[in-house]
Amino acid sequence: MEMKFDSSILVKLLFLQCLSVICAAQDFDFFYFVQQWPGSYCDTKQSCCYPTTGKPPADFGIHGLWPNYKDGSYPSNCDSSNSYDQSKISDLISRMQKDWATLACPSNSGSNFWSHEWDKHGTCSESVLDQHSYFKTALNLKSKIDLLQILQSAGINPDDGFYSLSSIQKAIRNAIGYTPGIQCNVDESGNNQLYQIYICVDNSGSNLIQCPVLPNGKCASTVEFPSF
Ligand code: AMP
Repeated sequence: MEMKFDSSILVKLLFLQCLSVICAAQDFDFFYFVQQWPGSYCDTKQSCCYPTTGKPPADFGIHGLWPNYKDGSYPSNCDSSNSYDQSKISDLISRMQKDWATLACPSNSGSNFWSHEWDKHGTCSESVLDQHSYFKTALNLKSKIDLLQILQSAGINPDDGFYSLSSIQKAIRNAIGYTPGIQCNVDESGNNQLYQIYICVDNSGSNLIQCPVLPNGKCASTVEFPSF
């Protein structure tokens, strides 16, 4: 008897296979939690503006919590139907003003910065963190990882001095157990300086992890830690 091959079964199988790939696909692999030294944002050619609520503390501030892929790329602007709504985070605003201060010009309260971060990055992790949990997770990470304290305990102070990049990395690795990514920029006189510190967090937002990939930080082997 001739065996007839039913191609429609093959099509169905392929369809199911694709569906399972889509369903199993991760939104993102991990988060970069990025903190920024305000002195290094402000002493650049572009300069900065303090928020309407006043000069931020001389401490690292949050730049963002960014969903990322292991290959170094990242998703962005994932859901325009879930745009920033400050009424959802009213209980967090005073902490945000202190720990997630805007430095962009013209001066504003910070909502422009926060809404940019939510719309561009936060919407890409909405399957794990809703708006309130997204901002709260970042604030809690900041409270847990006191970078200024970590660096100062290692004798690395924001005193316009120059420090080796490896000493900065080592101080943080000794304190948190993982190697951070360090990003530098240049001040108005062209000095290479400590700008942002990237720490990796698993895709639930709960645990620090070793970074699957580190950003190209553009740092010299010795960098300035400017005052603020
Ligand atoms: P992102 O788009 O999240 O990758 O961040 C880059 C953008 O954030 C740039 O437009 C920066 O100018 C802006 N930015 C970085 N730090 C701050 C800050 N402290 N306040 C306001 N805007 C900032």
